[in-house]
Amino acid sequence: MGNKKRVLTGDRPTGPLHLGHYVGTLANRVRLQDQYEVFLLIADYHALTTRPEKADILASREYIREIVLDYLAAGIDPEKTTIYLQSDVPEVCELTLLFSMLVTLPRVERIPTLKDMIRDQKIENPSMGLMLYPILQAADILHVKAEIVPVGKDQESHVELCREIARRFNSLYGEVFPEPEALIGDVPTLPGIDGRAKMSKSLGNAIFLSDPPEEVARKVMQMFTDPARIRPDIPADPDAPHNVVFRYHEAFNDDKAEVEELKARYRQGKVGDVEVKRRLIAALERFLAPIRERRAYYAARPQLIDEILAAGAAKVRPISQATLAEAREAMGLSTRRLAELKAQLP
Ligand code: ATP
Ligand code: MG
Repeated sequence: MGNKKRVLTGDRPTGPLHLGHYVGTLANRVRLQDQYEVFLLIADYHALTTRPEKADILASREYIREIVLDYLAAGIDPEKTTIYLQSDVPEVCELTLLFSMLVTLPRVERIPTLKDMIRDQKIENPSMGLMLYPILQAADILHVKAEIVPVGKDQESHVELCREIARRFNSLYGEVFPEPEALIGDVPTLPGIDGRAKMSKSLGNAIFLSDPPEEVARKVMQMFTDPARIRPDIPADPDAPHNVVFRYHEAFNDDKAEVEELKARYRQGKVGDVEVKRRLIAALERFLAPIRERRAYYAARPQLIDEILAAGAAKVRPISQATLAEAREAMGLSTRRLAELKAQLP
């Protein structure tokens, strides 16, 4: 084991990755992989918290493959980064149980993301599993003792809970866990094409990294703009937060001079929404074309995905077992299970 700092983050297999993932966390993951030991998990247990139906589980298997392809397409190098499936490393469940004793229910109920999830997905009676969501996430992070967690702004409060759990565990049983820090992306939260605050797989307002050009163009054309601006000669504010077309220009258009020029003309009422959108489509194509190309390359090698996930699980499992053994030992739990865990270590 090297002494590089560890990084862990992941995605639920509830759909392919979108532009929000890219700017919120994926770009940071790609950037960090040269310097740190990066772990990416595909959180299939977490997907169960809102989608426990068998049909959903079967659908998630396809998304798992799509997400691995999205990682590779975005520039994740499987030689440097460990990619694994959460349920391939079930030791994390035992750690989740141990951690769940250190967190009160009201503390979990105060987490904004959970509240949003319950509201947006109209969940009337949240399951116990959903309440465990952030605790399972803390176990994911801490079982590899990750110190850096690249996430979108919406997940910051989860990392905060993870830090609290690490502190509480360490103060009760002795120093076992680091206190990880969230690393938020350049765009903390990318809005959806419908103008809602967050682009999200589950909200039907996403442009996916794997969308073909005509689909990207169609989505941009239906994008939310200023509803008060019914003619192109009406001066309006491109910086108004609800004017999402300009938010995307800022995030993805590599031609910064063009963005400034469009904004200036928009303020003067000298450019129509259609032109602003056409330029955005062109910018998104510049951004997405190489991603699409790499995706096609890897998609033609389907076995590779299985190999990557198998290698990832084989790498993470002993790390997880060692951490769990350490935690159990610190807590003074039965030594029989401890012996079993230690016997599994290489
Ligand atoms: P779901 O709707 O199923 O919750 P999601 O689109 O929110 O899906 P997640 O798998 O929950 O995606 O999130 C994976 C990571 O991507 C998290 O770190 C999250 O903060 C980040 N992320 C997701 N959407 C955005 C966004 N619109 N802007 C910035 N970061 C985002
Ligand atoms: Mg989410």
